[in-house]
Amino acid sequence: MANVTLSDVRKTYAGGFEAIKGISLDVGDGQFCVLVGPSGCGKSTLLRMIAGLETTTSGAIDIGGRVVNEIEPAERDIAMVFQNYALYPHMSVYNNMAYGLRNRRMAESEIDTRVNEAAKILELGALLQRKPRQLSGGQRQRVAMGRAIVRQPKVFLFDEPLSNLDAKLRIAMRVEIRKLQRRLKTTSIYVTHDQLEAMTLADILVVMNGGQVEQLGNPLAVYRKPATTFVASFIGAPPMNLMPLRDAGVQANGGDGILGVRPEDLVIAGDTPAGGLALDLTVEAIERVGAETYLYGLRSQAGDTPTVSARPGELPPGEVLVRIPGQDAPAIGQRIRAVAPRERLHLFSADGRSRIEL
Ligand code: ATP
Repeated sequence: MANVTLSDVRKTYAGGFEAIKGISLDVGDGQFCVLVGPSGCGKSTLLRMIAGLETTTSGAIDIGGRVVNEIEPAERDIAMVFQNYALYPHMSVYNNMAYGLRNRRMAESEIDTRVNEAAKILELGALLQRKPRQLSGGQRQRVAMGRAIVRQPKVFLFDEPLSNLDAKLRIAMRVEIRKLQRRLKTTSIYVTHDQLEAMTLADILVVMNGGQVEQLGNPLAVYRKPATTFVASFIGAPPMNLMPLRDAGVQANGGDGILGVRPEDLVIAGDTPAGGLALDLTVEAIERVGAETYLYGLRSQAGDTPTVSARPGELPPGEVLVRIPGQDAPAIGQRIRAVAPRERLHLFSADGRSRIEL
């Protein structure tokens, strides 16, 4: 068991590209931390730095009270699970799991105990003599997990471990990983670009952008109060509607800002809640996905004038997504009014870099 603490960690690749621009983070003992962000934001680089597979240019990486910057990967007491399982094709499941332990010259009896225990946890008991090619994708992923578990590391590091699986299996394995981590209580750091995976797995969600932490915290807290428009549009699917709000006295100097409302927080018809938002829309497209329906509405040229800040602002025309439960939807071309209460609105500075409390 161990804390992982990063203090102003930076990485500049040979050639001068600064991939990690000063990240500080404290993952408590037994916590599940998820690093999420778009392609190229540096999440794999950061994970590989923690693993010791990349050098750290400056700052300190501390695992279990020991700065590990200069310590070899094998000595860091971590186990990594990769996207492409990297199983040895010619070895049985049993030997794949035992391999790392044999390399460490562990006694065969201890290896046998650990492999059987991991196989039991992962329900691989009946498959121990099979070769990887005789397994399904999900089973292979479990063997990769087993290989990490038998090492009884202080920290698990996961690099997009589910991205090669089909959608249904991804969900099943996501639940498996969370159950397993709760059971083993091993500190875990998990990289993904999938916001849903991040939301459901994380105790601590770290949203990364351009080599920096954009926001960090409990996943629902991040969903409810995104700190920037980047986080607002990255966390939550379909993403939050973001609308430029003109001349609303948002900031002392200029009047402009960005108004945000999630598709699921807009309700059709009804009265406009006091201080809330009402949008007059023409339905342009409808998507029925089963339990809910997405309406793509065009805001009219006339513009709405919500009073969410110092004075009524102007919303220029644009598209708005409304997410309604069930399958009943207005017809294409129909005019609708979508409203949201004030407490469901989000206001940001015009550059999107800061949140303004309403
Ligand atoms: P993805 O989800 O696509 O894997 P990521 O967030 O994990 O993306 P990284 O792989 O960490 O991103 O890469 C971060 C940035 O560092 C990218 O701009 C990438 O091009 C750059 N980068 C990665 N490896 C090197 C390298 N060896 N030399 C120079 N630049 C690199």
